[in-house]
Amino acid sequence: MKLISLPAFADNYLWLWQQDSQAVVVDPGDAQPVLEALARDGLTLAAILVTHHHADHVGGVDVLRRATGARVFGPAREDIPGPFTAVMEGDQFTLLGQQVRVLDVPGHTAGHVAYFVADAPESPVLFCGDTLFSGGCGRVFEGTPAQMLASLDALAALPNNTRVCCAHEYTLSNLRFAAVVEPRNSALQTYTAHCQALRAQGLPTLPALLGTELQINPFLRTRHPDVRQAVAHHAGFAQATPTDDVTVFATLRQWKNDFK
Ligand code: ZN
Ligand code: FE
Repeated sequence: MKLISLPAFADNYLWLWQQDSQAVVVDPGDAQPVLEALARDGLTLAAILVTHHHADHVGGVDVLRRATGARVFGPAREDIPGPFTAVMEGDQFTLLGQQVRVLDVPGHTAGHVAYFVADAPESPVLFCGDTLFSGGCGRVFEGTPAQMLASLDALAALPNNTRVCCAHEYTLSNLRFAAVVEPRNSALQTYTAHCQALRAQGLPTLPALLGTELQINPFLRTRHPDVRQAVAHHAGFAQATPTDDVTVFATLRQWKNDFK
């Protein structure tokens, strides 16, 4: 099994999961880079997985379906270019000899799903679209902060060695914000240096390792005392006020939205 991140637009990755002469693509916002990769490596497209309805994730679906006949899987509660097989939490299907499990991860959009391959060779693989990024998370556009927090909690509960295939290369800018939230997090400093070195060579920072994200991603660390204290300080909460998890998450997300 090979995982290839095809760059598209300014900072998207279209993930190509390859096994022998077959491939699956995730969130093809553009068909061209996918068609080129298929031709170059002599691959047949077995399926198209879609996490949510945004144009930078579905823009190439129609062209790819027509060019390859690949079956499309997409979120049951979203309107994506059909026909597609509607999937939701708990659904499982087999692709390229692997079981794929669907997780509902609403928040960025109302019906956003993620695809988890638990028994992928070497280590599990997660395709999470715009829900979890390395060092950050997606903006909460259609869902609520409570939904987004629950979605991130569900992803955080996956095995530590899960390879997280995010749909955007936002890592360095996310880490700049993370360093303001947790200036004393040494794992964050080490990881930032690592990612800076990768980007300096023009390499992707992804897939990220879930176990690393748990150590460095403030949006997975909203119960950590350092993150809570930083959020409280930023928002001017009274020190003694017991603050619930959703308020901490929502305040952190808003802080990031406003961060320059
Ligand atoms: Zn999106
Ligand atoms: Fe996106």
